Amino acid sequence: MTGMAPVDLAVVGAGLSGCALLSRLAQRGFDGSVALIEAGRGPGGRTATRRSRRDEGLRLDHGAPLLNLSAGIEKELAPLLQPLIEAGQLQRETRPLLGLDHQGGWAESAAHPLLSGQLWRGVPEMAAIAGSLMAHGPAELQCHFGLRLRWIERHGGIWLLADAEHNQVIEARRLVLSGNLLAHPRSLAMLAWPDVPLRSAVACGEDLQLDQALASIAGIEATVRWNLMLSLPSPPVADLPRQLWCLPEAQQRWGLERLVLQTQADGRLGVVLHGFDGGEAITPESQPLLLQQQERRQLEAWRELTASWPGGEWWAEQAESLGVMRWGASLPILGALPQHLQWCGASGVGFCGDWIAGPGYGRCEGALHSVLKLADQLMEAN
Ligand SMILES: Cc1cc2nc3c(=O)[nH]c(=O)nc-3n(C[C@H](O)[C@H](O)[C@H](O)COP(=O)(O)OP(=O)(O)OC[C@H]3O[C@@H](n4cnc5c(N)ncnc54)[C@H](O)[C@@H]3O)c2cc1C
Repeated sequence: MTGMAPVDLAVVGAGLSGCALLSRLAQRGFDGSVALIEAGRGPGGRTATRRSRRDEGLRLDHGAPLLNLSAGIEKELAPLLQPLIEAGQLQRETRPLLGLDHQGGWAESAAHPLLSGQLWRGVPEMAAIAGSLMAHGPAELQCHFGLRLRWIERHGGIWLLADAEHNQVIEARRLVLSGNLLAHPRSLAMLAWPDVPLRSAVACGEDLQLDQALASIAGIEATVRWNLMLSLPSPPVADLPRQLWCLPEAQQRWGLERLVLQTQADGRLGVVLHGFDGGEAITPESQPLLLQQQERRQLEAWRELTASWPGGEWWAEQAESLGVMRWGASLPILGALPQHLQWCGASGVGFCGDWIAGPGYGRCEGALHSVLKLADQLMEAN
């Protein structure tokens, strides 16, 4: 034990769902203390915006570039999103979304679940959405950014949470995981962890609901994306589309899902190429080489696909690579945690995120929906 008083609730993850949960709890009148713990440098998670320490002006939405709501701002989500719309931090996406053919030509975009319904974007950048939700959270909120949890233990009804070195320990009465890394066996291979932390914290049979939840989480499969980030000077073409979706033959040729184009405040252009996974095993040993291979492969694809654009070789010659970001669980594609397992009362742990079954599953919309019932359950448990 740390000697510090435990907080009433620890929320792991400052992505959309973790931050939306804070906002929802505040709306429901939650008056306890909360610790928000996030491995990244700021809020956003998979809707984060990449900033460069070397280039302060550059902002790249290197994960989800927009939020699509299949039924628009429906009644259930309005309390979460309306304050952001009123503050101008969430606006309708008006820039064009086009398709990309296998010769680099721009075409009409094919239909896709990530483009269905109303399209919204964060202003000035995607990370503003999670940031604003967080700012609407409970009054007694302590934020721990840059803290990657590795250890979870439970003693006398209190959760003890710590990083790999046990340098920082946080105690909490209740715990919510918004990502499933600490509860999913993928960490065994990808991070070479010897155990699944949440499984080790509560022995089998102690909380039957948690046993069921962990079994269900183990069945969730997600895709991997390798996103190459590029910076270019002011481009020779005005009115660029926001996204270029690769049509099937282009996907096959270049191994890319889409290109996201982001004009910067100073006129420069940021581009993010969303690259499919090649299926190689990702381990701490293999990752550095895979990152290099992806960078080479995608730079070559960029050179080929822009060759027919106005300005020709300018696009490839002027592009500066800012490196590749690997998104380990970019979109859940198989399995989901049923809603009735979202809150495991006996051990005081809950789950939210786009991997919870329900509307918008696997997308930003699902991440937002996932907090609604959980917030009610946390209020009852408080
Ligand atoms: C490349 C890409 C493109 C996408 N495109 C779209 C799109 O066009 N439209 C759409 O609707 N959705 C899209 N998505 C999906 C969308 O981004 C997600 O559905 C949504 O952001 C999920 O939010 P979340 O809060 O559930 O999870 P996350 O954003 O993943 O939040 C979980 C947070 O928990 C933190 N965390 C996890 N483990 C730990 C730990 N041990 N210690 C500390 N912190 C931890 C993580 O750092 C992360 O910030 C895309 C995703 C990716 C990656």
